[in-house]
Amino acid sequence: MDRPKVCITLAGKSLQEDIDILNKYRKFVNLAELRVDCLKDEERTLVRKFPQMAKIPTILTIRRNVDGGQFSEGEANRTILFAKALAFGSDDKTKNFAYVDFEEDFRVSSLQDAAFVYGMKIIRSVHNMENPITNIKQKIENLSTSEYEIPKIAFMPHTLADVQRLFEEAQELKDSNHIVLAMGPLGLPSRILSYRLKNYLTFTSDSSPDSKISNLGHIDPETLVKTYRFNDIDENTSVYGITGWPLTATGSPAIHNKGYEVKNMNSVYIPVRAETFDEAFSFAKAIGIKGMSVTIPHKESARIKMDHTENSVKTIEACNTIVQKRDGWYGYNTDWSGFTRALIGFTGLKTLSGKNIAIIGAGGAAKAIAYAVKLLKGKACIFNRTLKRASSLAKIYGFKYASLGPESVKELRKYSDIIIQTTSKGMNCYPPKGKEFAPSTEDNDPIYFYPFKGHEIVFDIVYEPQTTPMLGRAKGVNCKTCNGQTMLDYQAYEQFELFTGASYNGTN
Ligand code: NAP
Repeated sequence: MDRPKVCITLAGKSLQEDIDILNKYRKFVNLAELRVDCLKDEERTLVRKFPQMAKIPTILTIRRNVDGGQFSEGEANRTILFAKALAFGSDDKTKNFAYVDFEEDFRVSSLQDAAFVYGMKIIRSVHNMENPITNIKQKIENLSTSEYEIPKIAFMPHTLADVQRLFEEAQELKDSNHIVLAMGPLGLPSRILSYRLKNYLTFTSDSSPDSKISNLGHIDPETLVKTYRFNDIDENTSVYGITGWPLTATGSPAIHNKGYEVKNMNSVYIPVRAETFDEAFSFAKAIGIKGMSVTIPHKESARIKMDHTENSVKTIEACNTIVQKRDGWYGYNTDWSGFTRALIGFTGLKTLSGKNIAIIGAGGAAKAIAYAVKLLKGKACIFNRTLKRASSLAKIYGFKYASLGPESVKELRKYSDIIIQTTSKGMNCYPPKGKEFAPSTEDNDPIYFYPFKGHEIVFDIVYEPQTTPMLGRAKGVNCKTCNGQTMLDYQAYEQFELFTGASYNGTN
């Protein structure tokens, strides 16, 4: 089977802007798609010269609003624009567009003839920006009327189950002369695992935040090729992943995929965004995913679905790692062990005996941390906004508990040898330009009411940003501080070992 090509979709306002984006990623792509509909009016008339400027096989696309594009001037004007772009075809094919995208219902024979005469391929496309498309095999067969046409079906999935159906239906497709994909962040697996879908190409785009096509769920070509090693994925590639919701940002693919690369393993680790764990688990089984990291909010649901669970999972009541073995699915928790390794490395302490520890928060991560603190023989008090959650967790380990507010300042002082912050307050709270951290406020610092004295050891398990407002405040009076990055790394290294049986050395 031919390998899927990497195409970059260029959605700049001018041809020069598009060339600049192309040059940024040129070494990672095989072809480019010029989205004429995104260009300013005065630039649209100049597109005929673009293939010569791009010096790479290029797709000509003028996408209408109804298909998710920006062209709203009507079909007559679109036909004229296509004609101008395809006119005066050169015998030197590199000066012509290599492909032109015509939608299923856009059949203008003079334009089709022009494309055929100059050796361009037609991408015959169907888009549904609202709903999933089913019966893929039949539709692909109906779309393709000649060997010069590449049928393309792209749709917006509602749930991960729609993406799963696409993978299942694609098994019936024969060769790699088609493009089938699910759009949006849910559809990301269909872009990375294009080989599994036997696709002719996969679409990528510039990673800039103001990209006009970010709703399509593209990733940039460099990430696709370097992080996900797209060009090495084949039928023997073992697939792993991370599931959660909304899973908007995760550092785990970079860690795991680096590990496979260093060890020369034919494996890939992908984000599997799913609103429910059941959907993610069904998807994993359907496409043969062998193991997954599980994050917010699926850790408890994952525990219930496993055939076998470790004791730590039973006590913590959360499972952040699932692995398929011969006799079923196994559930593990590497949050507590990752935290333990990070804490020991940071403090140099082998035991917490004799230490009074404050655990801020009583959510899923706090449960793993309370388990670790107990094993390390620490004495703790759990502070939480919802007191009931603090009391239930404290009861399991014989710890104290208290509310999270100014009324608990004295209690917090009593347990201030080590303060472990586990709430999501402070997460994604980025510093203003030129500053190391954002100033602490009641809204971003869970213990804003507590004045650090400098003797406290402070561990914040949040890793985005590197310095939360609370951690910044602690640093300001010379407390010893640590953020959640090492915990994240160590829990991932352990997952890597559970997935592959090999030790992690991706940092080498
Ligand atoms: P979770 O189960 O949803 O628990 C969230 C906790 O934060 C609860 O204690 C909740 O209190 C508290 N909280 C949320 N918003 C609050 C607010 N505005 N004021 C006061 N308390 C608030 O989430 P989780 O799984 O424990 O994760 C929590 C954080 O840890 C996240 O930022 C996550 O990224 C991070 N984490 C890091 C690692 C790592 O490896 N470094 C691993 C796991 C998690 P209530 O009970 O009152 O709602």
